[in-house]
Amino acid sequence: MPKNIVRVVVPPGKTVLLLRGDITLAKTDAIVNAANSSLMGGGGVDGAIHRAGGPAILEECRKICGAQGPLPTEKAVATTGGKLVARHVIHTVGPVWNGGQRDEAELLQSCYRESLLLAEKLNLTSVAFPSISTGAFGYPVEKAAVVALSAVIETLAQLNSVSQAHFVLFDQFTLGVYSQAARELLSSGRFPSIGIDSND
Ligand code: ADP
Repeated sequence: MPKNIVRVVVPPGKTVLLLRGDITLAKTDAIVNAANSSLMGGGGVDGAIHRAGGPAILEECRKICGAQGPLPTEKAVATTGGKLVARHVIHTVGPVWNGGQRDEAELLQSCYRESLLLAEKLNLTSVAFPSISTGAFGYPVEKAAVVALSAVIETLAQLNSVSQAHFVLFDQFTLGVYSQAARELLSSGRFPSIGIDSND
């Protein structure tokens, strides 16, 4: 396995990969966008996805918002991937960090879960996630990593179609924190059936 990639094996036959990269280049069936509720694009990963995918994504986002209003935090909707390799973009709105007193963990967990359930509904096999809420929304990465990994491991084990979830993390620090969180989850015994491979 290439250095710097951590693979979490989730029986039966599911994989969570942690790697460093630009999610707009991911070759998974869908990539997840850390959107804001207007779905009109923005900075960070949201801006990068709209720039790389082109105007077809925004056009669909406009239609969705026109039909159902702004997307509430923790929900997910899908659009085309436009010019991306990924055929679909799943947009979800993470919580803004507020000191941990406003159900941020539950809301963040729901973002990952809803995104995977939507991918399952679309019959997809692989989904790539960024580190939702840990940029402009200020969620501490150490806390977010545990929530994100737990939610993805737990949900993935319940799905049929989706078998691969990738965390495509933009910088080495974030990858390091997620890798450490995966090791801690393994040693905590919370998910007794998971295993970890890495070349670090
Ligand atoms: P939020 O508003 O949910 O906090 P941000 O886009 O500000 O979302 O940041 C979320 C994470 O996405 C951060 O770790 C940021 O470094 C990362 N990020 C930004 N651009 C990309 C990209 N092209 N690919 C993957 N991750 C990215």
